Amino acid sequence: MDFQPILDDIVEAIRPELGKEGRVANYIPALANVPAAQFGIALRTYVGREAAAGDFATPFSIQSISKVFALGMGMRLTGESLWEHIGREPSGSAFNSLVQLENEQGVPRNPFINAGAIALVDRLLGHLDPKAEMLALLSSLCNEPVFFDEVVAASEAATGFRNIALANFMKSFGRIENDIDGVLDAYFHHCSVRMSCQQLARAAAVLCADGAHPFHADQKVLTERQTRRINALMLTCGTYDAAGEFAYRIGLPCKSGVGGGIIAVVPDTLSLCVWSPALDHTGNSLLGMRALEMFTSMTGLSVF
Ligand code: GLU
Repeated sequence: MDFQPILDDIVEAIRPELGKEGRVANYIPALANVPAAQFGIALRTYVGREAAAGDFATPFSIQSISKVFALGMGMRLTGESLWEHIGREPSGSAFNSLVQLENEQGVPRNPFINAGAIALVDRLLGHLDPKAEMLALLSSLCNEPVFFDEVVAASEAATGFRNIALANFMKSFGRIENDIDGVLDAYFHHCSVRMSCQQLARAAAVLCADGAHPFHADQKVLTERQTRRINALMLTCGTYDAAGEFAYRIGLPCKSGVGGGIIAVVPDTLSLCVWSPALDHTGNSLLGMRALEMFTSMTGLSVF
């Protein structure tokens, strides 16, 4: 299939909608000023063919998309014991909710809500430097150096009262081993990574190739089973409280972030990244979701 004309058509269809609906995330002050009227899309097939259109080269804050790669790191390091500390069920509540944690003795529902990612970073800290490792992993997977946005990381540290509360709450249940400040510093930095659609489509290609490195096919970054499980979690828990709607309308494992990015995986075929900063009421990129729906309708690609 020639994907370039498809992505060009999607950009044409989305362009008149730019800036009309949705809202840029403003609870992180450093994200509030990102111009809403931007849209990019990029993909990479498992054999390395690429297509891209719109603002595909513009870097943005990947936010919760980093949680997918943190999970990959956690699975590699701690194997199944990870699941003694973090669940694997959709939360059915807000990504930063405290309520469920109270009822479930401080064990987060899954690694893609904030509490789960914070608990995951705590696990990583016992083995490595999560900040350095995140940059090393993403830079390797997309074949270009990527960096933290220190302004965004500092902005989150200064205003992330809920995340600070989540970490302390879990600590009160004895679920966090390390010093809270170190855990949160790594978590906020993970969220602050800046990447473009093209870089994220490349990095996510590891998930459409049974865990093989996108640029070095003979190198296994994840096992086939780990990759399958990350995709399963993305499908069930990757898009906040809209995972059902994503499965229904798009039918692909996806992970979104409040920076407006969404990665999507067609297993054994390709990975995609869309980005548009204005979010809908569920916190997902409004035009990003629409673009993914167009892509699966036009190509017939879906896991169902
Ligand atoms: N850094 C954001 C937070 O912790 C991540 C939210 C997201 O992208 O889901 O609130």
